[in-house]
Amino acid sequence: MGKSVSKVREAKLELYRKQGKIHARAVAGRFNTLRWAIVWLTQIVFYGGGWLTWESNGFARQAVLFDIVHEKLYLFGLVLWPQDALLLALALILAATALFLVTALAGRLFCGFACPQTVYTTIFAWVEAKVEGDHLERLKLDQSPMSARKLTLKGVKHGLWLLIAAWTAITFVGYFTPIRELLPALAVGGTGPWESFWLIFYGLFAYVQAGFAREAVCQHMCPYSRFQGVMFDRNTATVSYDLRRGEPRQARGQAGRSGGDCIDCGICVEVCPTGVDIREGLQLGCINCGLCIDACDTVMTRVGTPTGLIRFASERELAAQVPPAPAGRPRLAVYGGLLLAVVALGVWSLGHRALLQVDVLRDRGALLRETPAGRIENAYTLKLKNLDDAPREFVVEVSGVPGIEVVGERVFAVAAGSVRPVSLTLSAPGGTALSGVRPITFRIAATHDATRKVLEPSRFILP
Ligand code: SF4
Ligand code: SF4
Repeated sequence: MGKSVSKVREAKLELYRKQGKIHARAVAGRFNTLRWAIVWLTQIVFYGGGWLTWESNGFARQAVLFDIVHEKLYLFGLVLWPQDALLLALALILAATALFLVTALAGRLFCGFACPQTVYTTIFAWVEAKVEGDHLERLKLDQSPMSARKLTLKGVKHGLWLLIAAWTAITFVGYFTPIRELLPALAVGGTGPWESFWLIFYGLFAYVQAGFAREAVCQHMCPYSRFQGVMFDRNTATVSYDLRRGEPRQARGQAGRSGGDCIDCGICVEVCPTGVDIREGLQLGCINCGLCIDACDTVMTRVGTPTGLIRFASERELAAQVPPAPAGRPRLAVYGGLLLAVVALGVWSLGHRALLQVDVLRDRGALLRETPAGRIENAYTLKLKNLDDAPREFVVEVSGVPGIEVVGERVFAVAAGSVRPVSLTLSAPGGTALSGVRPITFRIAATHDATRKVLEPSRFILP
């Protein structure tokens, strides 16, 4: 009798796992709650971020905008230019190092909770469950022949998926073209070729990845899942089945039950979004989402056995039954140290980034000009680049030749985040002992802050 119950369960599991599509059973618990909290948080930030405005000097603009046409990245009060690429590189290194650190500590935590693939699959699967019912109803529907009901349910589900995918694409493109301009343009079919391309591409991408590909992305397409194993050590805590405690697994009600704590109910497999049986050990398909922990904890509570048969545990802890060692993990020290170094470098670079850049070009038309008063004049074009998010005034001074001075206007206003070319004439006394090409230095400083200055070398030509 016991054997036949077990066989039925095995057959049920095999049936479940051999379906082309995984219909995961819904589960409640702390990891599911955490998962949804992160889904909400990331989606509020993503869908809402594009609608935030930032006011600067009486001018309101989108707070977060990648303005590719004008080569600027707006991040609230910060405006980054191509010359700030180092900061962007540091941000990427920071994100990668943080990911390595988290992986070394707790395995694929990012995959299970914060990866966009997981987040959108969770949202799409939720829509699917709302429309088609629980996992068994969905399985039944998939296996049933086509009918008006099936067609309606599938149509509604795909319609909702397409709506979410479309809005996701609009939001994404809205970070590159101001979303308040994009929507009216979209309404009248007036989007540009690149905007149209990315709207269609990203919309279809979201629809296919979250609606159809799902766990296949984690198992077969994601490069990170392939190499993250190198960040693991014996102290990395991952979702694990406590073999010592669980085995030999034995169904409840089986005569003469004397086995481990696992009652072989199979629910941990049924809730798994990637179809993994965690009892078979650490697998490539496991994204560390913790849903099997929720499932097993519920089962353990129901049967009156301590929870934690499946839990976050390290290889060391499972083997020796001791708590993980917090110290003596060189890779944590390396990742942590790298993280701190990148943060420090980023903060320093941000504090020392130049908000004024100047290019000095000598006038190619004439080498020099002599005035009736006997002074020698050279002409220049200065390109004043104000990288600040506010309009600024800059004063130009020059040195290097005795008596050299700027002729006429010396103070120039430059609008926020723009480049102003100005024509400038320098004058020096003629008839002195000096002659030929003389090195000079332009000093351009902000009027509101003399420390914001640029020294640019150039040449002054005397007869
Ligand atoms: S949920 Fe727990 S008791 Fe049930 S099969 Fe999985 S490990 Fe065993
Ligand atoms: S085995 Fe558990 S932790 Fe791993 S993906 Fe499946 S449900 Fe998530």
